[in-house]
Amino acid sequence: MKDTDRIKHAVEVARAAHEGQFRKTGEPYIVHPLAVKKILEEWGMDEDTIIAGILHDTVEDTNLTLNDIKKEFGETVAFLVDGVTKLSTARTGMRDIDTYLPETRDNFLRLMIALGDDIRVLIIKLADRLHNLRTLSALPPDKQKKIAKETLEVFAPLADRLNMGLLRVEMADLSFKYVDPKRYDYLEDLIEKYNKSASKSLKRIEDEISEAFKKEKIKFELSGRVKSVYSLHKKLAKHNQNINEIYDLIALRVIVEDITDCYLALGIIHSLYTPMGGRIKDYIAMPKQNGYQSLHTTVITKDKRVVEFQIRTKEMHEYAERGLAASFYYNEQKVTENYKKGKIEHLPTNLLWITELQMTAAKLREGKKVDYKKLKLNLFADKIFVYTPKGDIIDLPVGSLPLDFAYRLHSEIGDHVIGVKINGKMSNLNKKLEQGDIVEILTSKNQTPKSSWLDKIITPHARQKLMHRLNANKK
Ligand code: MN
Repeated sequence: MKDTDRIKHAVEVARAAHEGQFRKTGEPYIVHPLAVKKILEEWGMDEDTIIAGILHDTVEDTNLTLNDIKKEFGETVAFLVDGVTKLSTARTGMRDIDTYLPETRDNFLRLMIALGDDIRVLIIKLADRLHNLRTLSALPPDKQKKIAKETLEVFAPLADRLNMGLLRVEMADLSFKYVDPKRYDYLEDLIEKYNKSASKSLKRIEDEISEAFKKEKIKFELSGRVKSVYSLHKKLAKHNQNINEIYDLIALRVIVEDITDCYLALGIIHSLYTPMGGRIKDYIAMPKQNGYQSLHTTVITKDKRVVEFQIRTKEMHEYAERGLAASFYYNEQKVTENYKKGKIEHLPTNLLWITELQMTAAKLREGKKVDYKKLKLNLFADKIFVYTPKGDIIDLPVGSLPLDFAYRLHSEIGDHVIGVKINGKMSNLNKKLEQGDIVEILTSKNQTPKSSWLDKIITPHARQKLMHRLNANKK
């Protein structure tokens, strides 16, 4: 993409403003804003965001004022620069949050709420952080560690929340290298050895798969995926350091044309190799909260290797790697407009958390009480997997209740709940669901939704459906 006149002008303004300043690497300061510009362009961000990225350090570090920026580049750019400045200087946003939420020390949550108004501020901040990480070696060791740790705790999870897979992996691995260099080297070595030892059988699997797909006339691309160092580190911690329990050390990605082919591909793979029980995940029918879609299955190959397959379409693949960033501008407009009108029922599920964040930020500003524990749960929850009586797997945030489950199945089911059986026994609507529960929802045609149900729901999806029905009934 060629620079627009506005973008060229912003570069000139930033260059003049940062004149005579240098980075710790010894380079002229302008190198940094230009690198941020490039990252934002790669992510496919809109013009205003790119301009704000070029100017993001000017208000804090130069004589340029917000008013200057507003005059030259308009309200939106000024708003975005102001947001980024607030985040990095004196942590103004954070300090405000301290007075709102003295009881939480959760940096992640506080950052999110400080950001509530326009998530593009966050995207600029992520680009800024990424470039700073790439050039971290120029800083003294204590600062390196501090920045790297903060990135692992706050920014990499945020990237995940936006389904920006490539960014998450790069940030996490760059940071982990500084946080625990010895461990990093050890694991990097381990992965390399493992891949080497597996390369022959991987080649054979690729051949077998290719042949089978060609026979069925399915167009496909195959690629191996190397597990990132940091995600292996985290998985090993979860599995008592037992590498034999890590089933996705070898993973193959199968990219096909459409959703029908995804399921066909899954069937072919299962006819070639033995699938492992409980390791089939349908994130196409039920996307992850961040919008990620794929079919996952783990199989045991003919030479007794454990291999994970991830099957998805091109669009799903693009979205898994780049996330909301690319399509963000349009989505954000929609979110904001609907939010202002008080309408949230038509949002794609994977954007609901943004709306929720905005509403929370607004409430806090008005001095209203917020149940931040519930918010936290929705934003960062780990998942539990529960089953329908027929054996379908439903993934829900930890802490979900039977009504969350019911609305997840279908709003027609949710609206008519009269009771619930968990693992074959009658239970009640306040009972938190646990990993592996078999949940049977009992319904009656005559039942209507109750406003008291709002207290028996934790997922935004269910809340949205229920609110919608309650409002409709009022009319
Ligand atoms: Mn910066």
